[in-house]
Amino acid sequence: MQIIMKKDEFREALLSWYHREKRDLPWRHTSNPYYIWVSEIMLQQTRVDTVIPYYERFIDSFPTMEILASANENDLLKMWEGLGYYSRARNLQMGVREVVENYGGEVPDTRQEISKLKGVGPYTAGAVLSIAFGVPEHAVDGNVMRVMSRLLLIEEDIAIPRTKKIFETVVMELIDRKDPSSFNQGLMELGATICTPKPKCLLCPVRDFCNAFHEGRQEELPVKTKKTTMKVIPVASFAIQNKQGEWLLRQRPAKGLLAGLWEFPMVERLDGIAPLEKMRQQFGVELENVVDVLTFKHIFSHITWEMTSFKAQMKGTDSLPPGYRFFTVEEVEALPKPVPVLKIWEEIKWEE
Ligand code: SF4
Repeated sequence: MQIIMKKDEFREALLSWYHREKRDLPWRHTSNPYYIWVSEIMLQQTRVDTVIPYYERFIDSFPTMEILASANENDLLKMWEGLGYYSRARNLQMGVREVVENYGGEVPDTRQEISKLKGVGPYTAGAVLSIAFGVPEHAVDGNVMRVMSRLLLIEEDIAIPRTKKIFETVVMELIDRKDPSSFNQGLMELGATICTPKPKCLLCPVRDFCNAFHEGRQEELPVKTKKTTMKVIPVASFAIQNKQGEWLLRQRPAKGLLAGLWEFPMVERLDGIAPLEKMRQQFGVELENVVDVLTFKHIFSHITWEMTSFKAQMKGTDSLPPGYRFFTVEEVEALPKPVPVLKIWEEIKWEE
């Protein structure tokens, strides 16, 4: 690892660039710790452009922590529908409830206390503390590790969790103690817009301080070993109607992948059995008028679903698969659904 010799000049270059060039984002107009917290949770694993409308709707619907704390789960998940990683929403609500119940509705302003809240990891803690309260605390995510690994030629593997500590330590050495909010956001902004996987070094405000640039090694960093291989599961989903034109759905279990969201009957097809036969075996239903709808991939963090989807009608409705029931179009609209189900639903919902 190299060091930055002129720390004050580095901070000055980063901060003045940030103040000049920062994107106008809705959560940059507030220092309300709850709003900053919401934005940081939404931004995990999700692009800024995607988050903006979700953030605005969420804050409109749950403008205070008290309102979010008492919201019902369906309304919460509906607000998060399509954003993915739904446990984030539940953890956020649980963390907010803890603040309302145990901290008199005031988000704690020390790393020790805020880190006790559900869903608040080291990055979120540092982001809320620095941006909302001006506390000089590190907020290191993947973007920041990319930037710092290049600036300081840090060659440790960022895929290994303990490597993050190295970055947290160097950020604490460099952070601007007068304006930690702009410093952390400046690093994040640089990682998001200039020091991207293919860095735009000629536009970089801190190029003079960058060890990787001076050695022509910026594209080699950060060092990141390959993730474990993705498991690919072929899945068939059936949007099934009864004679009244209602649709068959169930709520997924309260724990696990896509917990609590609503779905059409689905079968995994790792054994290669034909979808209709699999439906018969697994759900005991006989289908007719089966029509192809969509074929697509849905990628989670460790699994890919290779989805085929069908529209079908049930032969008789005497016995429904356990946990399933029929809903009108309007009712299905109101249920929180995961992205793969939404895609199918958008395709079929107004068809006669
Ligand atoms: Fe990143 Fe290039 Fe700037 Fe270095 S000079 S921080 S590699 S954009």
